Amino acid sequence: MKFKLIYPKWAKLSRQTEFHLPPHGPVVFAAALPDYVDIDFIDENLETIDFDDDVDFVGISMMLTVQVKRGWEIADSYRKRGIKVIFGGIATMLHAEETMGHADAVFLGEAEGRMERVLSDFSQNSLQSCYDFLNKRPDIGLVGPARRDILNRKLYNFKGVQMVDLVHTSRGCRFNCYPCAVSYLGGRIFRPRPIDKAVAEIAGIDNNRLFIVDNSLAQDTRWEMELFQEMIPLKKSWCSHPIEDKPEVLDLAARAGAWYVYQAVFDTSDYIKERIKRYHDHGIGVEGTILLGLDNHTEDFIKRLIDFLLEIELDLAEFTVLTPFPHTKAYDELSKENRILSHDWNDFSADQVVFQPKNMSPEKLQELLDYAWNTFYQDEPQGIKMAKLFKQVVKREMADNTFKPRDRNLSGQSFGRPVNRDNEN
Ligand code: SF4
Repeated sequence: MKFKLIYPKWAKLSRQTEFHLPPHGPVVFAAALPDYVDIDFIDENLETIDFDDDVDFVGISMMLTVQVKRGWEIADSYRKRGIKVIFGGIATMLHAEETMGHADAVFLGEAEGRMERVLSDFSQNSLQSCYDFLNKRPDIGLVGPARRDILNRKLYNFKGVQMVDLVHTSRGCRFNCYPCAVSYLGGRIFRPRPIDKAVAEIAGIDNNRLFIVDNSLAQDTRWEMELFQEMIPLKKSWCSHPIEDKPEVLDLAARAGAWYVYQAVFDTSDYIKERIKRYHDHGIGVEGTILLGLDNHTEDFIKRLIDFLLEIELDLAEFTVLTPFPHTKAYDELSKENRILSHDWNDFSADQVVFQPKNMSPEKLQELLDYAWNTFYQDEPQGIKMAKLFKQVVKREMADNTFKPRDRNLSGQSFGRPVNRDNEN
């Protein structure tokens, strides 16, 4: 069966450097497909879709809300040609009903152990319009190594440097933060993968630099420490969302190759200040993820917050505005208060204000977003800060003898996360 798996393109954040990381959702999904499926993967951010090629079935994998409208267009084109289309991925789950209007089937939930049935329905021309497994999560032990072989890997480099590879070691999250849809998508129960399986997958990735994309590794100290312990011999360098800041955890994380973490900074408290310092004391960099426009944010507060970020010497910062993605507490509350100003999903890019802030006009918040980027990077531009963080990893690799000489002439690169704008760690 010829299955074409498509990852629709989207516009990057206006202030983000243009680079492309290998996508994660499609390669994890591909691992759940039976062997007889011949997968042709297209990342539309980097390749052009040939709508006339010979294909039996099309899958559209959507991670971000800003991908959905393009995903629908692609599906409409294939369906006009009589080819059946199934949708999956995080953004499909968030926009399931609307997506059904453009699909022969939508798949909601995690795919492991489920795709044989879907493909058998397809073969018998009896596809269901919706496969809803959102609250029937499979055994996490079924998660196999992602099918990175479907990627056209040479496309994922920046100025000759291979981009980080993405991998996950757990699903779910114990927390339920205001702007985040993870509790809806992955559940409130933290589900770690068996450590031997996760570590075997990491060891098998042909890349020394990884992004561990788990929602948050700071969920279960014992598991976290065991994972880091097992990762030490692999000599990988990695970035991730937050890890616990207990000294014993940070010590192991650093030995396991922690390069930098993404850490949300919501306020100017000593708690945050000390947390950042603890990461730094262990040689772990910090990229702050800063969400502007919460109900307690005034113009003064935001300006003080930016000063604070400079004072605590964050290595990098990425600024976005609160965006009420469906199935978040933010969406429910702002919707109830009639404060959502746009339902055009292309506007839900996290750098456009689509809601009425409590303490200022939408225009003012938009202006403060620019102020934040400009002020934080005023004395030391983003490229320089990135180069500094990059130097750390090169230094470590040289010490470990894992440095690849082709990276030697690099003057600076972008290596941030694919901003998962449907959750915010
Ligand atoms: S923001 Fe992070 S910690 Fe909070 S619910 Fe989402 S994934 Fe969990």
